[in-house]
Amino acid sequence: MPAHRSGWACRSLVQRFDRLSVNGLARRPRPHHHSEPPVQRILQPGEIEALDKVSFPRVRLPQPATLFQERAARLRQLAEGNPIADYLRFAARLVDAQQRLAAQACAPDAVPADIVERANANGMPLLPASDALTPAWRDALRALVADARADTATPAPLQPVLDRLAASDDDALDALARQALADNIGREDIAAAPFVMAALQVAFSARAAVLDERIVPYAEPATICPVCGSAPVASVLRIGGEAGGHRYLHCGVCETEWHMVRVKCSHCESTKGVRYQGVEGEGADARSGAKAKDQVVLAETCSECHTYRKIANQEKDPYAEPLADDLASLTLDLLMGETEFSRASSNPLLAIERPLAV
Ligand SMILES: [Zn+2]
Ligand SMILES: [Zn+2]
Repeated sequence: MPAHRSGWACRSLVQRFDRLSVNGLARRPRPHHHSEPPVQRILQPGEIEALDKVSFPRVRLPQPATLFQERAARLRQLAEGNPIADYLRFAARLVDAQQRLAAQACAPDAVPADIVERANANGMPLLPASDALTPAWRDALRALVADARADTATPAPLQPVLDRLAASDDDALDALARQALADNIGREDIAAAPFVMAALQVAFSARAAVLDERIVPYAEPATICPVCGSAPVASVLRIGGEAGGHRYLHCGVCETEWHMVRVKCSHCESTKGVRYQGVEGEGADARSGAKAKDQVVLAETCSECHTYRKIANQEKDPYAEPLADDLASLTLDLLMGETEFSRASSNPLLAIERPLAV
């Protein structure tokens, strides 16, 4: 188990590891890397209007209060019989607190026209998260910390972490946020990371929620969030409405979703080596005898960049929610840790050290 070793959430999973088998996880030789020059897509006048004629939404902006409510419910649903049930219930309480804050959030200021124009002209994210740390995120963090300190269900080992966050000044919190956004938070602050990321989600999803889809750029690379420039936590195959049948990458920070065709790797955009792998032999799948291909969550692997990112399939379960389903399928990460594939990006609500792909 070279990866995923630390973190209290993981221990029970490691103990269960030998009961599981995984589909199609034989090591393969590394192919030569073929990189293609990035194609710069610049939105020209008139193209913004043309987007209206696309039959499905290119971007799905978040509705934070509903999103957090559904995520908390999904986390509790997935906690039943899950090896990391306690952690999922802890995460659900944190998301409950996010939902309460989202319901009270003030409307952020409109994005200035020159920023919209420059981002679209250069294929840049509209509002890169680490450049836009406003007091709103610190307010959210302090509220989440106060909630967790008052909650008797908060695990005792977290109390010193919460005390330290509560005592931190604005500059220290902003520094922590930048580390968390860059996914290089120090070992001593790992346990604080879910609170920091949860607060950033509250602030940045509120900001994304009030945007007009038509001003959201085509970011380059297309694997980063076009609103805040963060990595997707997972992708989701949606059902229902105009988005139904389409795959969206879900931002781990501002909760925006953007479309990407399924044949493309969500990390390097290669179309050459995308495959799916899942876990067999656990939970409902064991009882029903379902194969990996029938599972809600699969690891989408890429033989070009040697990473994986999970995809949650609403056609298999209409309640699938990318962040919650990604977190609850930590078993799959443990199994993938034995393969050539590295996890492409972290789950924001998981306090764990892991080597990531670069
Ligand atoms: Zn984002
Ligand atoms: Zn790739």
